[in-house]
Amino acid sequence: MNASILIIEDESAIADVLAYALGTEGYATVRCTLGRQGLELMRSNLFALVILDVGLPDMSGFEVCRQARSFTDIPVLFLTARADEVDRIVGLEIGGDDYVTKPFSPREVVARVRVILRRNAARQKPVASWFEVASSRIRFCATPLDLTRYEYLLLSLLLEEPGRIYSREVLMDSIWREALDTSDRTVDTHIKTLRAKIKAVRADLEPIVTHRGMGYSVVNGAER
Ligand code: CA
Repeated sequence: MNASILIIEDESAIADVLAYALGTEGYATVRCTLGRQGLELMRSNLFALVILDVGLPDMSGFEVCRQARSFTDIPVLFLTARADEVDRIVGLEIGGDDYVTKPFSPREVVARVRVILRRNAARQKPVASWFEVASSRIRFCATPLDLTRYEYLLLSLLLEEPGRIYSREVLMDSIWREALDTSDRTVDTHIKTLRAKIKAVRADLEPIVTHRGMGYSVVNGAER
């Protein structure tokens, strides 16, 4: 997987050095300086890893990590300037994967990143499922999808039986039975917007399959 690395660091000189060092190793990076921006980015994008400064202007890196853990299990590498913060990272269950103390050599950070990503790739294989449905939300590759009511109903129905082909008629009957404003394009239109939202998370995956003249099915995972 070639998802980019998110750097949340308010000191631009440090972010520059990191982005450069990671770039020379083939890692794309995205940067921001505030914890709340970082959380926003993590909610709307799939990153391979986040490098998270503990001392951010708007909130601590610990708090960013704590909040991020409510919606993602992305690996977190903390950057810290103070020895007493290391105790907190190690001692408390903040949910980080590793830490580096400032000042650090960029090479060291890149090495840590590589170790974490390798460990994570091993842990995640085989991919059990792409979608998770929980408390009226659907996550795709660990990223929550922002769905309309009908998109949600449609996708969760398809996910009830991955691989099963649902005809347009069945989908119309199950989901839009009570709806007044429908047409024979309703199912296709919603499939189209769903695909766009899924593509925004992972452009390389196509979990919704069109069966010409028959309907749609969903693939939920790498096994197919
Ligand atoms: Ca800082």
